[in-house]
Amino acid sequence: MTVDAVDYKALPKIELHAHLSGSISRQCLHEVWLKKKEDGETDLQDPLIEMPLGKHDYDLKTFFPLFSSYIYHLVNDTWALRYTTLSVLSDFAADGVVYLELRTTPRAMPSAGLTKSQYVQVILETIAEFEQSNTASLRTKLILSIDRRNTLREANEVLSLCRQFSGKGVVGIDLCGDPARGPIDILGPVFEEAKRTLPELGITLHFAEAEASGTEEELLTLLSWRPDRIGHVIHLNERVKEEVKRRGWMGLELCLSCNVHAGMICGGFESHHFGEWWKVEETVVVLSASPTSPFSTDDVGVFGSPLSNEYALVAKHFGLTRADICSLVRKGIDVIFGGDEEKERLRGLIWSA
Ligand SMILES: [Zn+2]
Repeated sequence: MTVDAVDYKALPKIELHAHLSGSISRQCLHEVWLKKKEDGETDLQDPLIEMPLGKHDYDLKTFFPLFSSYIYHLVNDTWALRYTTLSVLSDFAADGVVYLELRTTPRAMPSAGLTKSQYVQVILETIAEFEQSNTASLRTKLILSIDRRNTLREANEVLSLCRQFSGKGVVGIDLCGDPARGPIDILGPVFEEAKRTLPELGITLHFAEAEASGTEEELLTLLSWRPDRIGHVIHLNERVKEEVKRRGWMGLELCLSCNVHAGMICGGFESHHFGEWWKVEETVVVLSASPTSPFSTDDVGVFGSPLSNEYALVAKHFGLTRADICSLVRKGIDVIFGGDEEKERLRGLIWSA
C-alpha cells in the first residue's frame, strides 16, 4: 500500500500536547463573541474580522497578544469556558483523535466568581458531559500547567489542585510559558514534591522550546526533575541529547507545523528534528497538532494543521510507510498519563502495523 492510501483522519490518534486556550478555533471564539455582544458584555471587534480565517501569514508578535486578549476577555465565565471546551473536544474528535490530554493553567475568573479550583471543576464536568453525550471514541484527561512566570506560591497552588483532582480526571503537571522567563530553579521543589507525593501524576515539561530556554544548565535542571515527557525538544546540545536517551523511554511531544511555520527551527519540514528522533529506541515520539499557551508559539487555529495533517506531513517528508505510522501511534500509548485501563482500551482501538 502506498503512503498516500492512509486515511489520516480515520487513523485513531493520540494527542498529548494540547493547550486548551490555544486549541479554541477562531470560529468558536466568534460564536462566543456574538453571544457576549448580544448580551452587551463586550465592546471588542468581531474576532473573525480582526483575525480572518483565511489569513495565515501572521507574525507571532502580532497574533498572540491579539489572540490572548480575546481569550482572556471572552472566555471569562462558566458558560464561555464550557462552550469553548466542548468545541475543542468536538474538533479533536472530528479529526479522529481517540485519546487527548488537554493542558491548562488554572485561572480564576473573578467577574464570574470562579476560583481556580472551580475553573478546573468546570472543565472536568464538561469533559464528562461530552463523553456521556457523544458517540465518539474520544477520551480526555487534564494536565495542569505551571507558568514559568509563577511564583513558588502560585506553583504550589497548581500542585494542590493536582492533588485535589487526582483520580478525578487530572493526570499530569506541566511547565509552560514564555521561554524567555526564568530562571526556573525556584520551581524545582514543586516538581520534586509532585514526584514524591503524587507518584501517579505524570510530569511533562516544555523543553528547549527556544534558544533562551535551551541552555545546558536549564535543561539538565529540568531533567533532574525526572519528567516522564518533554515538549518541543529543539535546542539541545549533544550532551543533553545523550542524557535524554540515557533516561530511557522518555516521551517526546513534537510539533512539526508550528516549529516550521513559526520559524522556531531553521529550514523546512525535512530539517525538523522529528527525523533525528523517531527511530531512537530509547525514546517515544508523539506528534502534536501544536496548540498553544498564550505565550508559546504553537496554535492549531493559526497554522491550520490538525493532528491528522501532522501524520501526513511526516509520511511525506520522512518517508514513513503505513506500518511506520501505525507503530509510531501505538508506541505513543506507552507514555500517556491516563493509566493502564486506558492503555488497554487504546491497544484495542489503534491500528496495528
Ligand atoms: Zn506547548
